[in-house]
Formats: sequence, structure tokens, C-alpha cells
Amino acid sequence: MMDNTAMNDAGPPAHARDWKQGIARGLARRCPACGEGRLFARYLKVAPVCASCGQALHHHRADVLPPYLTIVVVAKFVGLGIYVSEMYYEPSLAFHLATWPALTLVLCLTLLPPLKGAVVGLQYALGMHGFGAGGDNDAEKPRETSEGPRT
Ligand SMILES: [Zn+2]
Repeated sequence: MMDNTAMNDAGPPAHARDWKQGIARGLARRCPACGEGRLFARYLKVAPVCASCGQALHHHRADVLPPYLTIVVVAKFVGLGIYVSEMYYEPSLAFHLATWPALTLVLCLTLLPPLKGAVVGLQYALGMHGFGAGGDNDAEKPRETSEGPRT
């Protein structure tokens, strides 16, 4: 296992970035590189470039992981809330109908941006999808094949 703290003196090459810091900065909706600039230009639209440090952010590939994580977290929380309220308080059906859908909606809309930020921060820290230092990320290059020309 590599020691991340020993390699931070020479700038942030992709293999030396702290993934916990990347996730924490993303959760705070800040640029994963500097922690100062805003990560999002709009609600869920990642800014193409950090306004503070100039780090390119456009090549993230968060895709469906943030909604998936949001669903997992919200479902656990709301499911536990329904279970506990029913076990100990036995509220009315009207309470359930008024509370849980609204709470689910609010929690999903609240948690989605920070969880997307965490995913982008983790991708930055791991050097994924063009976040690698020097642009040498193999995921962005066309693959060279050893096969001969097709006939
Ligand atoms: Zn920045």
C-alpha cells in the first residue's frame, strides 16, 4: 500500500491524491483539487472548469451512481422511519401519506448534489476519466490492438 502523505510535496499527481479529501470536498460541493471553487454551475450541472484553480472538471463520469447512492441512503432512512413510527407510535394512515412521500422527495433532492460531488471527487482522487495528471489516462485513449487489419 502506498503512503499518500509522502508524495503530496510534488503537486497532486493522480496516484498521490487523497481519496478521503476528494470525497469530503465533493460532499461540500467544492472543487476536489483545491477545495475552494464551486463544483456545480447549477443544481446538478458540474462546472466545466474550477473558477478558483482552473482544474478541468468536465470529464467526470458520475452517470447513475449518485442517484443509486441517494436511493440507497433515502430508502434506508425512510424505511427505518416508517418501521419505527409504526412499531412505537402507530400513527394514522393520513400521517404516513403526508409524511413519507414528502420526506422522501426532500431528502432525495437534498442528498443528490453532495453525493454526486462525492463521486466526482472520488473520480478526481483516483485519476479516473481524464483526471489523471498529464492527461495520460488510459480510459480516454483509443485502444491499440494487436490484431492485424480486418479483411
Ligand atoms: Zn479548484
